[in-house]
Amino acid sequence: MSVRLTVLGCAGTHPGPARMCSSYLLETPGYRLLVDCGNGSLSNLQQRWDVADIDAVLISHLHPDHFSDLYGLYYMLRFHPDGPRSVPVYAPGGTLQHLAQVVNDDGEFANRCQFSAASAGERLQLGPMTLDLFPANHPVETLAVRITTDGVVVAYSADSAATASLSDAARDADLFLCDATWLERHRPLPSGIHMTGAEAGRQAADAGAARLMVTHVIPSNDPAEAAAEAAGSYDGEVLVATDLFSIEL
Ligand SMILES: [Zn+2]
Ligand SMILES: [Zn+2]
Repeated sequence: MSVRLTVLGCAGTHPGPARMCSSYLLETPGYRLLVDCGNGSLSNLQQRWDVADIDAVLISHLHPDHFSDLYGLYYMLRFHPDGPRSVPVYAPGGTLQHLAQVVNDDGEFANRCQFSAASAGERLQLGPMTLDLFPANHPVETLAVRITTDGVVVAYSADSAATASLSDAARDADLFLCDATWLERHRPLPSGIHMTGAEAGRQAADAGAARLMVTHVIPSNDPAEAAAEAAGSYDGEVLVATDLFSIEL
């Protein structure tokens, strides 16, 4: 293995039958980054990994389908059978204050999940991974990310409507995970929130990404239809995110 991405959840907005919400594990030998931690994703994580194996977490934004399982992660770290563990969590500013309201906080939440504020325009160096953060187009502050490690580039749109900054985030990426929540046949659709499969394809084409993985498809839509839309506007390989799908890059 050089660089491996595993989908731990890909359902958009809410879980579906046997489909968890957004979470992706990016691994290089000796380092594991968890990107988002949506509802149910911790269940998939535990099928192959121990939470103590996670070196860092990035949360793209404060919508429940992207952070809900941070609570479970916290309790698993706190009550880990080998003793309490901690993990650094990078997230938009104010995340700790926002999330701590839900737990009976004796300070342990911040000890186990060690939050740092991250914002678009920043570069984070996490172990062997370089993360460049970009602004997504979504109703709350949302971080798209370009991750470079071992010569491989993986980009993630997070939740976003089409926007030029995503083309920068995914420029010539080896793999672009892109929001494809919606379908063209459902127009009119709200603006400034998500993309259709066709828009995800155009975004990947504009970025010159080598592969597109459509994700965050809302469970009432068929991911294969979103992928077919994307293939109509993008010549590269189109993959469909499914729970526990892994790809080596
Ligand atoms: Zn979402
Ligand atoms: Zn969202």
